[in-house]
Parts: sequence; structure tokens; C-alpha cells
Amino acid sequence: MKSLQNRFQQQCLWENIIVEWFNREKAGLDFVSYLDCWQLAAKAMDAWHILNIYHIPLTVLEKYFWNKEVQSFFRWANSYKLHSEQFNYLDQIPENIRPVDVKKVNNFNPRCFKFACGDLIKELNAAAKWAKSKEVFGKSGIVILNLEQIYLEVDYIFSNFLDESEYTISIPVKLNTMQLINIAILILQIANCYITGDNIKYEDFSRLLRTKFIAGFDLEFSSRSYMDYLLRNNIDYEFNWQYLVNKLQINNVHANCDVFIKICNAFEQELIIHLEDQITKHNCQYWVNFCNKILQKFCWGEGSEENLINNWNILLDQYLKLTTFLGEHDLGRFIKTLITLSKELDVKAITNTKIDHKKNINIVNIQAALQLQFDNLWICGFSDINWSEFNQFNPFLPIDLQKTNSGEEILQKLIDLTSRLVICSYPLYIDGNLVQCSKLITNFPEFNLKFNLEDICLKQITLEYYEDHSAPIYNKKLFSGTKFLKLQAACPFQANAKIRLQAENLKVPSSYLEATTKGEILHKTMERFWGKYKALSVVKQLSIEEIYKELLDITNEILIDLKKLRPASLNEVILKIEAIRITKLCCNFIKTYELNRTNFIILYLENKFTVKLKELLIKIKIDRVDQVNNGSDLNLLIIDYKTGKSLINNHNWQDPRIDDPQLLIYSLCLANIEELILAAITASPKFITLSNWQELKDVWYESLYKLAKDFQNGVAIVDPKYGAITCRQCDLKYMCRVFE
Ligand code: SF4
Repeated sequence: MKSLQNRFQQQCLWENIIVEWFNREKAGLDFVSYLDCWQLAAKAMDAWHILNIYHIPLTVLEKYFWNKEVQSFFRWANSYKLHSEQFNYLDQIPENIRPVDVKKVNNFNPRCFKFACGDLIKELNAAAKWAKSKEVFGKSGIVILNLEQIYLEVDYIFSNFLDESEYTISIPVKLNTMQLINIAILILQIANCYITGDNIKYEDFSRLLRTKFIAGFDLEFSSRSYMDYLLRNNIDYEFNWQYLVNKLQINNVHANCDVFIKICNAFEQELIIHLEDQITKHNCQYWVNFCNKILQKFCWGEGSEENLINNWNILLDQYLKLTTFLGEHDLGRFIKTLITLSKELDVKAITNTKIDHKKNINIVNIQAALQLQFDNLWICGFSDINWSEFNQFNPFLPIDLQKTNSGEEILQKLIDLTSRLVICSYPLYIDGNLVQCSKLITNFPEFNLKFNLEDICLKQITLEYYEDHSAPIYNKKLFSGTKFLKLQAACPFQANAKIRLQAENLKVPSSYLEATTKGEILHKTMERFWGKYKALSVVKQLSIEEIYKELLDITNEILIDLKKLRPASLNEVILKIEAIRITKLCCNFIKTYELNRTNFIILYLENKFTVKLKELLIKIKIDRVDQVNNGSDLNLLIIDYKTGKSLINNHNWQDPRIDDPQLLIYSLCLANIEELILAAITASPKFITLSNWQELKDVWYESLYKLAKDFQNGVAIVDPKYGAITCRQCDLKYMCRVFE
């Protein structure tokens, strides 16, 4: 007796055939790992069905062998046929392939109209107003091509015109959109990394740390979030398990996360037991049991609704049905198969995914619309760009043999399914570019959309505004660092949010050296260099080559220390390139600037001082203070290093909202300061020297005091100094709502 194969089983068989073929034909080349064989299998399977539907014998393809794709498909199809005959398999024809001849759209159909709108948002607004108007009665459908991606915008616009009870948006929800399922797959992926020794991405670990679908979430939610915050500032972007364990132990990062640590230990123990087995490939049932054991360690899904768990079981059931086709395989393939299936299987038992036949207005995507009947239909997005996407042909079949679901056929079907009016709207612009309407509707008459405003009951929301730009008074009198002054000058709201409320975006550990880290390395290199030589006269005894070598050794030392913290992001090549780059910058700076100066000795390096601004005290750290011997006088010179050229441009030193207040405040910490220098250590070194600054001292003192006092008094107005330019560097846009 023949056994019926489901879609995934067929596709799995096609995939096996394709992988086998590639391994045989391209022996020695690792082609397969670069190909999405599952997608290739889907196309081949579609091609096979098209041939069957139209009763086209496989041998017809022989005369098209000049086409390599057709030739490959011919071979795969023969293998597929052999397998199916050998094991008595029977195909299932997918619903989306229909044996219909292409019809021409009736361009003179009096029920069909076209309607032009400025852009997609205007189209959606027009469709929503039309759906609300009295002209429309009976069941109406609104078809939106990429509904899944713009679901939130659609809901927002329609809710402005219609009550929730009047419309429904039905989108197909796939299993891979469910958090619960994604977390289960994530746990398996981390297990696989442990087993294979591969690195775990921090972002993945962070998702595990913050998920509510594992044990102890209610109890440890805030301590896990805090642990996430601490780790982000102190961890590489990817790492192995041992590195993570070490990190967790440093500085007691995991304080108050006992449950999380306990489940991680139990998870590791289970994996150690698994590794003792030493066999990497197993059948489907083994991996399902393994997966259950691993998920149990995390108490995954405990307390979740039954229908959510059922969706996971559906996924595992589908996977188990592939037992014959997958054979013995490793954990990686198990995970890959689950991911692939979760992208294709629909979520069951989630209410808002269903078409609601009781509601008069159904907003659907095109696939759903083809299964329904309406009295009136509005189809959005009828531009030539969008609609031409439907004219897709299968790459494995000669084009002249294909009769696909073309745009024409889809439109004709939609018209046939609608009893009254069909309106095809199209945007005049997509992403700012002018577009045309699809050729399919060029001959449709223009729709005259007249709205009776009384018909359209726009929801009236009256907002009451109360402006308050002040935060409570800050009782502190001692401040650390000058950052609060800089931010207060740039935008008072930013200073208050970042310093007082400690609002900051979570750091994303990166795979490269960030600009701030590069700046820190450069600062350290200069500090160690001058810390060793201490005086210009000593450095002058060295040749440029010796200075370069000294700097290179120092930079290497710093980078090697950094590599211990970030082993994955700093490989040997990056280390070498970065060491040379930083050394060249520092050497060039010393050569062009330092060696041409009057003799000096280093008095302070990265030294801490406290500055008094009336009743306020500010703790600061200065990059460098040199003592210059000018005959009888011993004068001081303050240097502030910058690592970006733009950072020292265009200073108006009398501006009360000064861009770089550090240098000003440094000038107040010591007597006998002769010069203040901003030094950009960049490819073309640049310096700003302030020599006659004493006359500005009183102005600066007052400006700095005002900035500090404003901060203390809670002046927190949203007022970016350079408008959008200031905001570009700031990550608080959603908090201050400057653009609303
Ligand atoms: S985004 Fe602009 S206005 Fe908002 S806090 Fe930042 S700098 Fe100020």
C-alpha cells in the first residue's frame, strides 16, 4: 500500500537528494554548508508538482539541458521518483498550486476601479475611511500585501476610524514568532555550543537570562536584569561556557540569582552526562528525549498556558514524522530542522489569527483573501513594483512549460470572489521614489472617493498639556567628573536623564573595538610612555625608531591585557593592525608636536583633583600636567587628549554652554597654569593652545558654576544645543520625545 507523505516529509526527501547530489558532484568542495538546501528543496518540490499537475513527462526536460538548473532538477527528480517507487510514497499536492489556465483580467469590468494615493499610509487611511463610510455595506475585505510586516501601523490607522468590534486583522502567525518556542530552541542552541565547543553569542545568553519562560523569573527578574547590565559592560560579544562561568564568579555578578545559577549547573551536569556517550549522531526519538531532559532542567514552560505548550508538541510531532528521512543525525541538524519547521507551521489556538466571519470588515493578506468571498474589496499596494512580484517562475523548469500563479490570475480570482465593488489602490511613491500603477489595472476607471465627514466618526481624543521642565532639586554638593557639565551644556534633559536617572541604552557587546575603547588604549599608551620617560630631555635622546618601538611595546602590552578580557573579538590579526595604528598615531604626535616644544617635565599623569565652584565641589582627572621651565619661572601646562579631530573644532570659549567644559574646569584646579592645550591625536595631529586665557577665567568660572547649579536645581528642559546634530549622538530620543 502506498503511504501518503506530508509536505515536510516530501521536502525532507528532496533535501536529502540535493545534499547527496552536491556532495557527490562537487566532492571536495564545501558547497552544501553555504546553500540553503531546504529552500532549494522547496523549489524543486514545486517544480515536481507543476509537472505532475500538467501531466508533463520528465523526459520533456531533456531538450532543455542547455539550462544547468533544468539539468540538475532532472537528475534530482529521477532520484525522487526512484525513492518514491521503492518506498511506495505518494505525493500530496500543495494547496497553493492550482491547475488553472492564465486568464486575462477583464479590463472593462464595471465593478473594478483604481485609486491613487500619495503613499502607503495615505492608502491605508483611505481604505479605512472607505470601510467606515455608508456607501459600503455587506462584508468588506481589505487586502494588504505585506500585512505581517506592517501589522502595527495597519491596526493603528484602522483603530482611528473604526471600533474594535467592527474589524479584524487576521495574520498568519508562525510558530517561530512565539517566544516560548524560540526560548526552547535557544536552550538547545546553547547546549549545542557546549557540546561542540563553539562560542555562545552574548545576545543569546542575555535572552536566556531575561526570559520569563524559565525557572525563577518572578523571583529574580530584577537581579537577572542587573546581572545582564553588569555583564554587558564587561564581556566579549561571544564566548565559550568556561569563560562565562569565570565572568559570573568575578565581582559576584550573579548576586541574588541563585535559581538561575542552580539551573545552569544542572544544565551543565546533564550535558556532561550526554558527552560521556561520545556518539554524536542519533535518531529523532533520541533527540526529542534529550530535548525534554534539557528543557526540564530549566523548568521551561512551567506555568505557561496549555495551548502554548501544545504548539511546541506539534513542532516535535512534525519533526518525529521525518524520522525515516533524517536517519541518524547530530544535534545541529535537529535544531536546524526545528527552526525550519517553526518558520512554516502555523500557530494553533491563538484567537486573533483567525478570520472573524461575524465582523463586517476583514483585513487580510492575499493568500487569505483568495480563500474568502466578500461583497466589497479594497486591494492596497497595486503598484507595478509590488504586483510584478507575483509573476514568479520556478527556476528548475523551462519558462515556456510553466503556468504559474501570475498576478493576472490572482487579480481575476479576487474579482470573481467579490460580488460588488473592487477597488485597487496604489501608492504614487514608495520610499520617496515615484512609481506607476500595475499594468493590470491601467484601464480601470478612477474611483471617486467622496467622504461624507459625518459618516466618519473619528475618535476625538482631547489631550491636556502641562509643561514641567524641572526635576527635583539635587542635594549633592560633590560631583564626580565633568561629564554632567558637558551634558548639561549640550542638553539639560540629557544630563538629568543620564546622570541623575542613570538612563542609558543597554550596551551591546561588539565584535570589534569600539571608538571609546580605542581612545582608552591611546590614552593609556601616552600615560605609560610619559610615565616611563618623565621629561622631554630624556625623550630627545631617543631616535624616532626607538620612540616607535617603545610605543609599540607599550601598545602591545595593553592590547594583550585586553585580549584576556575579550578573546573572541581580538584575534591576532586585529591585535597587530590596531597596535600599529595606535603606535603610529602616538609616534606622529610626539614627533610633530612634543619634540618641538620647550623643555618640560611631566608633573602629573591621570591625576585626580578637586575643584571648588563656590559651594560645589567637583572631582576631576587630568590627562597630563607638564612643568615648563621658562628661565626663572616654573609654569604649568595642561594637556587634554582627544582622539577625534572634530572634537576640538570651532570652540567659542565665551559661550556659556561651552562644548568642552573639561579644559575650563581644569584651569581652575592649579595655580601657575600658563597654557591649556586640546590635543587631537589623529592621523593629522591638531592642537588648540589657549595662552591668554586668564582674562576669560572669571567668565568661565561663572558659566561653569551656572551649568553645575542648573544641574543641581533640576533644570531638565529638552533643549539640544545644536538641534538635530546634538540629538544624533544621543540615545534618549524615545524618552525625551523631542520629535513629537
Ligand atoms: S535626543 Fe536630543 S533633545 Fe532628547 S535628550 Fe537627547 S539631546 Fe536632548
